[in-house]
Amino acid sequence: MRGMTGHRFRAAEIDTSKPHSARMYDYFLGGKTHYAADTEAARQVEAVWPDVKPWTRANRSFMHRATHWLAAEAGIRQFLDIGTGIPTEPNLHQIAQKAAPDARVLYVDNDPIVLAYAQALLLSTAEGRTAYMHADITDPGAILAAEELHDTLDLTQPVALSLNAVMHFIANEQKPYDIVRQLVEALAPGSYLVLSHGGLDPRGEISDAVTRLYRASGIHVQGRTQEEVLPFFDGLELVEPGVVMPHRWRPENDRARASAEALDLWIFAGVARKP
Ligand code: SAH
Repeated sequence: MRGMTGHRFRAAEIDTSKPHSARMYDYFLGGKTHYAADTEAARQVEAVWPDVKPWTRANRSFMHRATHWLAAEAGIRQFLDIGTGIPTEPNLHQIAQKAAPDARVLYVDNDPIVLAYAQALLLSTAEGRTAYMHADITDPGAILAAEELHDTLDLTQPVALSLNAVMHFIANEQKPYDIVRQLVEALAPGSYLVLSHGGLDPRGEISDAVTRLYRASGIHVQGRTQEEVLPFFDGLELVEPGVVMPHRWRPENDRARASAEALDLWIFAGVARKP
């Protein structure tokens, strides 16, 4: 585990010959931080799954709306974002600190490329604070014990834990529900869980093809149904409208609401409060 302080990332540690999920996600979002192997793998995914770009944008803008709601309406001032991804403006801290300049954010990801670009995540307001930690969500105990976490966040006060588009990289054998439970257990009452998770298309053909393509690139992905996503929120109080496709979670205006109704994207998202 490495924090940003004093850490110099060596470019040589980044393997550009193999596709990476964070860089493929960046490609789908229309970013610039990806290499030939990522583009090739991403185009293969796009060929079998034409909605992957709207899927990615819907997921990202759910993060924007949920974060804004937490900071502006729910009074949350601390954020723990695991599976951050390559910085893409606006990043979570920019949304949170726009509504609440004193917001504190700890970002966590296990991809060296995210660490390499993490400087962009550290441009905090003077009143707030942001930090980045290189760590793996499959070891929640290490994340919770880390100095970087306690330097940035006060776990006696509410925290919004955001796990957006990350748990579908965690196989059942790695006990994804236990991981989330362990993280949520460490949070104070009044904390929130924000989670989005790749789903499965009704006939399963697209999901199967996408899963095969990712696995062929050495990336484990596992879509889960809405029923399988719900237990991540066990013991928590879901805020309206519950676990839904992310573009249908509190759309910004009537136009967004109308276009969200017309488009099915196989991904589920929700926000819930810890009582
Ligand atoms: N949360 C962002 C980015 C999602 S892309 C968003 O919703 O827009 C998924 C990210 O999860 C990638 O950056 C990938 O590196 C990270 N990730 C995948 N497996 C992980 C793990 N085991 N531990 C930590 N991060 C992980």
